[in-house]
Amino acid sequence: MRHTVTIAIAIDALSWPAVEKSGFLREQCPFRRPVRTILGYSSAAIPSILTGQLPQVHGRWSYLYYDPAHSPFAWTRWLNLAGPLLHNRLADNPLLKRLIARWTARRHGFDGYFPVYDFPLRYLHLMDHCSKRWDFRPGAFDCPSLVDVLDQHGVPARFLTYPMPEEEIFQQCAAALRPDGPRLLFLYLASVDALGHAGGPDSPAILARLQWYERRIEELRRAAETAGVHVNLLVFSDHGMVPVRGTVDLRRRVEALGLRFGVEYVAVYDSTMARFWYPNPECRPRIREVLQQCQEGRLLTGEDKTRYGIAFAGDRYGQDIFLLQTGLVIHPSHMSRRVLYAMHGYDPDDRINDGIFLASERPAIVPEAITDLFALLLRAVGLSSPAEVKG
Ligand SMILES: [Zn+2]
Repeated sequence: MRHTVTIAIAIDALSWPAVEKSGFLREQCPFRRPVRTILGYSSAAIPSILTGQLPQVHGRWSYLYYDPAHSPFAWTRWLNLAGPLLHNRLADNPLLKRLIARWTARRHGFDGYFPVYDFPLRYLHLMDHCSKRWDFRPGAFDCPSLVDVLDQHGVPARFLTYPMPEEEIFQQCAAALRPDGPRLLFLYLASVDALGHAGGPDSPAILARLQWYERRIEELRRAAETAGVHVNLLVFSDHGMVPVRGTVDLRRRVEALGLRFGVEYVAVYDSTMARFWYPNPECRPRIREVLQQCQEGRLLTGEDKTRYGIAFAGDRYGQDIFLLQTGLVIHPSHMSRRVLYAMHGYDPDDRINDGIFLASERPAIVPEAITDLFALLLRAVGLSSPAEVKG
């Protein structure tokens, strides 16, 4: 019997409409379906794929959260001595913040993807960051991941991801296709996400990129044939991508209350969500009132948080969370200075936000949601997931 290698390719933000329009891998992967995503960005969705769990179990959600006592950015408080020299749009820019994030990560030995985007430097010392450990490292999350389980069972696997260029990811994958090589090759490709934000979910740039992927995947198939290896190909995404149809200036409405940021309340304006903490609890009803009056989204209830799997202990990622309607973005935000052409991070019940799943063979587990991919990948290499073993 020929040695089987599972090639699992995660394409960040590849949407179902893009797959349908392009006919991506139509011949190679006849088994195709959309899969439900989770509420959150890739910072939470990739961990959900790797662990099979919702965010409240694996511990990752949006990058920044209010926790002044444990902030790795505490040292940035000293930068505030520069006052207005620093606290202006020109000096306090995303490039400087990228350097500050990189320096903070190096100083603490963090190897995770560690962006702070455009969060104001002035308040960065109040914030902690959830992505200190690289997603593909053993023990990265609060629960076991694919990496841990494969390790425990001695299944040889390779994870080929950023910061490696995509060309090299495919080259290394082809070189690893040997009868005595890894049984699982996991490729993480991020460029479709960036192209989608810039030009929409099924732009010509995306279709061109998908064609490029098809050619690389065809080369992998030929390399496997030469090596005498049978390939089980699985291709999936963490979420979709939706064209932006409007913006909401939530910040202006909250700031009109005249409350002091950093003293009375703290907010993170993500692109599709705003999250609030209240060092002064008296501010909470006032801010909630503003959010409840905002027609372009909704304040999540306790029931919503449980259902989406974001009921974190101590409301770590926000005492109040406001979620925009699909297609709208917060602007200005702490994510980006420009309004991007398309976005994700909306209500997963709205199926336009679905991710995708394509396979060369019908899998033993038919995935309904991205959280099913963990068990599916383990099954592909002949293992049961820890949850199944326990049950
Ligand atoms: Zn994205």
